[in-house]
Amino acid sequence: MAERVTRFAPSPTGPLHLGHAYAALIAAARGDRFLLRIEDIDQPRCKPGYEAAIFEDLEWLGLHWENPVMRQSTRLWAYDAALVHLCNMGVTYHCTCTRGDIKAALSAPQEGAALIGPDGPIYPGTCRRKQRASGALRLDMAAAIAALGEVQFTETGEQAGTHQYSTAQMVETIGDIVLARRDIGTSYHIAVVVDDAAQGITEVTRGQDLFDATAIHVVLQRLLALPTPRYHHHRLIRDDQGKRLAKRDDARALAKYRAEGATPQDIRRMLGL
Ligand code: GLU
Ligand code: ZN
Repeated sequence: MAERVTRFAPSPTGPLHLGHAYAALIAAARGDRFLLRIEDIDQPRCKPGYEAAIFEDLEWLGLHWENPVMRQSTRLWAYDAALVHLCNMGVTYHCTCTRGDIKAALSAPQEGAALIGPDGPIYPGTCRRKQRASGALRLDMAAAIAALGEVQFTETGEQAGTHQYSTAQMVETIGDIVLARRDIGTSYHIAVVVDDAAQGITEVTRGQDLFDATAIHVVLQRLLALPTPRYHHHRLIRDDQGKRLAKRDDARALAKYRAEGATPQDIRRMLGL
């Protein structure tokens, strides 16, 4: 079997908690090579101290990754190149709608119930024909998918199998997602697709919460002529009340367990590994 390359891609916006430990341990176990990527494009929310803490926590867990670590804040040029490519294909448009504009358009009586997609409320398309020269850059999903037809990916997690998305499904349940936000000039979707390809990732391992975003990533991979890796979406680690662990939930921070004397083996046991 060909070499399997996996990655763990945390955002340094808070301490790592049990959910991150689970994601990192699962990813490392699924690869012959394990890479790390710091997803720090949302600069105002990222703190250098958190990045150092991530390395410390992962080392403590006993994980080994290859150097150099990829840092998204140094890769804006690569995201720009991808965005230019998509613009030249004619599958993008600029949008100046605010969150409030979108909410108002979606609550207009003729629109029916607003649908929420993997990227937030499904954009009603207000700016699609306006030929604006600035604003957020959106993907014209209907135009993009017309050139591709059905998209699919292979999942090896709980919902193992081939997942297919028809043209209508992509347009109606995902819609015109934002490719480049006004404030950061790119988006999670562009960065993750460009970087998984640049790092040669063959197995993407991440939380179930990102399952529906994967269809977006496959569309972008196809448009940018990048390979589609295999996907493994793992269960989310929840607290005793069944609530999903958030980064601000510092009570579950790995560092806290460590300070209280827990060992990496205790963490694995708590996670059922
Ligand atoms: N940076 C994302 C997170 O911390 C993970 C993105 C991914 O694995 O695709 O949730
Ligand atoms: Zn708009």
